[in-house]
Amino acid sequence: MSANADDRAGWRLRVDSTRCVSSGFCVGSAPEHFTMEQVSRPLADVVAPADTVLEAADFCPVEAISVFDARTGAQIAPKR
Ligand code: SF4
Repeated sequence: MSANADDRAGWRLRVDSTRCVSSGFCVGSAPEHFTMEQVSRPLADVVAPADTVLEAADFCPVEAISVFDARTGAQIAPKR
């Protein structure tokens, strides 16, 4: 990690492993950001903003995926 990694604009991804039902939707729609083990998990904590991440969060059937602004902590998806 570079010294300035936390200064870059980005989104922080979380998957709630207690909610994930392993549907695989997020891995199918955004394979560059999620991988499936027992349940889904993000491949990186902070990623560059991407529509596929929002789609995964918005269409996860159990709202297990959360996306936050890495700087402010504000929730971006799923929309409330
Ligand atoms: S879309 Fe939601 S329930 Fe399906 S694998 Fe991803 S996190 Fe789990």
